[in-house]
Amino acid sequence: MSFSSLVQELSLRDPNAPRRPGPTPSVSTFDDRASHVSRTMSGYASTAATSVSISGDIGSQLHGGYFHPLARSWQAERQLTKSMLIYPIFVTDGEDDMIHVPSLPGQYQVSIDRLTAFLEPLVHKGLRSVMLFGVPQKPGSKDILGSSADDPEGPVIQAIQLILRRFPQLFICADVCLCEYTSHGHCGILRDDSSLNNQMSVDRISDVALAYAKAGAHCVAPSDMNDGRIRAIKLKLIEEGIAHKTLLMSYSAKFSGCLYGPFRDAAGSAPSFGDRRCYQLPPGGRGLARRAIIRDMNEGADIIMVKPAGQYLDVISDAKELGKDLPIAAYQVSGEYSMIHAAAKAGVFDLKTMAFESTESILRAGATIVISYFTPNFLDWLDN
Ligand SMILES: [Zn+2]
Repeated sequence: MSFSSLVQELSLRDPNAPRRPGPTPSVSTFDDRASHVSRTMSGYASTAATSVSISGDIGSQLHGGYFHPLARSWQAERQLTKSMLIYPIFVTDGEDDMIHVPSLPGQYQVSIDRLTAFLEPLVHKGLRSVMLFGVPQKPGSKDILGSSADDPEGPVIQAIQLILRRFPQLFICADVCLCEYTSHGHCGILRDDSSLNNQMSVDRISDVALAYAKAGAHCVAPSDMNDGRIRAIKLKLIEEGIAHKTLLMSYSAKFSGCLYGPFRDAAGSAPSFGDRRCYQLPPGGRGLARRAIIRDMNEGADIIMVKPAGQYLDVISDAKELGKDLPIAAYQVSGEYSMIHAAAKAGVFDLKTMAFESTESILRAGATIVISYFTPNFLDWLDN
């Protein structure tokens, strides 16, 4: 029997296949079919090259391209490496702090005196970059101007200087915002009617960015979403003569929403009233995000960031299209991370598998830098 006759014979036994008129065939089971195939194959001598068109065009046969783990990894346009990862860390102004954040499993608020011991094993495993968030906790450390943001004795500047000394190979990014440092918890300076005063906020935030850059941060990353802050920061860096050694990463497309809860627990930055919808982007605002990305590229951003990541893969893809010649970063935020942990704990899926799947989808969308709380895990997982 030729191979094509075999296929025709099998199709006659398929209950969904068109049938020839005649007596009703007996109901076939899978076992029947398998034994029929093996009986038929035992008498089968040769294959004619022309009979391989089992379902039409030969281009329909894809499995050969990804049967092996290495071949599967080759199907990705870009593969996750340790150098793509930035680890967000929360630095307090306290002493001997290593405070677990219950809503952010496995993440801690760490004081300066514990920071070296905290980072050492991670650097040893290949950590390349951190994103610093300050968590001032001392009484009176918050005011309406966010004065402690650029306090030389404050947690961020202290952390920058310590990391430069102890881990000169680490690339230091400093998140730049006021919400962790203002008494009202908003990302800028407010008018009397509680709306954001954009000009004053930009002046203040660009001063904070400059202070972090002068302290030695390799990258300043404004997350406040005030209009025009990228240009203001770039100009101050140029004036100061340090623009050539300070990377400016813009949280260009930062969406408002409910995925930041665990972060606000960790950073102590929940607004005391209202919300951030008037400066962070509305979740449906894809066009607005594209405008923000184009604006920040024109204002001098070196890297464009999209945040959150998983719910905004289309925006990451837009950022890559608009910023073809720029690296694109994505922040897998606290709510995404904690959701994955919660679902894994509930038995919905395996934690590691989903950590990889979610991160690979971010890379597939166009990012080459991922700010991720899974970084310590990936440093282990990527070794295996
Ligand atoms: Zn903020």
